[in-house]
Amino acid sequence: EQEAMNCSGCGITLQTEQSDLPGYVPPKALEQEQIICQRCFRIKNYNESSSVTVDQDEFLKLLSQIGNKNALVIHIVDLFDFQGSMISGLQRFVGNNPVILVVNKIDLLPKVTNWNKIKNWVQQQSKEEGLKTEEIVLVSAKKNQGFERLLETIATYRGDRDVYVVGATNVGKSTLVNRLIRDYSDLEQELTTSRYPGTTLDMVNIPLDDGRFIIDTPGIVYPWRFSELVSREDLGATMPENPLKPMVYQLNEGQTLFFGAMARFDFLQGDRQSFTCFLSPQVVIHRTKLERADSLYADHAGVMLTPPNQANLAKLPEWTRHEFSLKKGTRSDVFISGLGWIKINSDQGALIAVHVPRGVKVLSRPSLI
Ligand code: GDP
Repeated sequence: EQEAMNCSGCGITLQTEQSDLPGYVPPKALEQEQIICQRCFRIKNYNESSSVTVDQDEFLKLLSQIGNKNALVIHIVDLFDFQGSMISGLQRFVGNNPVILVVNKIDLLPKVTNWNKIKNWVQQQSKEEGLKTEEIVLVSAKKNQGFERLLETIATYRGDRDVYVVGATNVGKSTLVNRLIRDYSDLEQELTTSRYPGTTLDMVNIPLDDGRFIIDTPGIVYPWRFSELVSREDLGATMPENPLKPMVYQLNEGQTLFFGAMARFDFLQGDRQSFTCFLSPQVVIHRTKLERADSLYADHAGVMLTPPNQANLAKLPEWTRHEFSLKKGTRSDVFISGLGWIKINSDQGALIAVHVPRGVKVLSRPSLI
């Protein structure tokens, strides 16, 4: 008879099977007298948080506890996957608590970018998602940009509140939590985590010098993001690491672009015009005629059209087709969650179709840049 064991740090039920899920502990560590989960172990010993993940339902259970707490909520989204990483139901759960929207990975955009314009765009888009934010802060966890601003903003709104950090997977949440730990607590002192009162759900409380806590929540898995669908190998290829090098294509109607064998973009109707692709440079773009697209895919997917390679291609769902009629007088992006976006440069209108694996979120939006 195996008895469920709990982490003596955060209280989560321990498991030895999956290292990216809450409560993981390496089997060896079970022999210790006081057992703590790997996440608490890292915080305790290295002053560092690492990522664990949960699905949407689990996360909503976690969120619903924030509403009646005195909390400052830091909501992190990925600028590269804005509509895919946004927690759109957040408002219903956090009650009247203030939310700071942190937009990470701004290093991916060109150095000469009108950041005020980006901020306005973010404001507009988050409004459409029904999000109320106290403040929007643009940062790059990787390049260490925007943190001074963020810390000032947190100081402005924190008062005597605990700081809850929420975000989807891969948005840079652990990088940011680690930065907060360094800024807010005494590094000489060993950090400990603590149990979230009255629950076994996975939130890690990291005590701060002033008696308040940073609460690190698990990353939410959103199934509509390419990043959740592809293999680890292809994640490296689809998720850009360095500033994007936008690729411009002049297309006539009846032409198609393949983005590796990940997605396909058909220009169905409209005047000859240019399209700018914002994708990881490792995704090979291939231009062809619409009428040849199917046979090209059949012959070359996973070989000339990569990523993915043939083995990984077989693991992706079949493609579904999404059609967009872009109106005259508006400048739009066709956005593919986790893969990037295509900017339609003309405002003369166009009829577009996008093919992506079933389940991937695709939408048109006002141009980001
Ligand atoms: P978490 O899953 O939200 O905790 O995110 P991590 O901090 O583990 O980061 C996820 C991935 O995003 C890693 O591959 C990071 O290198 C990358 N990443 C994080 N922050 C940035 C950033 O500011 N810019 C870029 N380009 N990549 C980032």
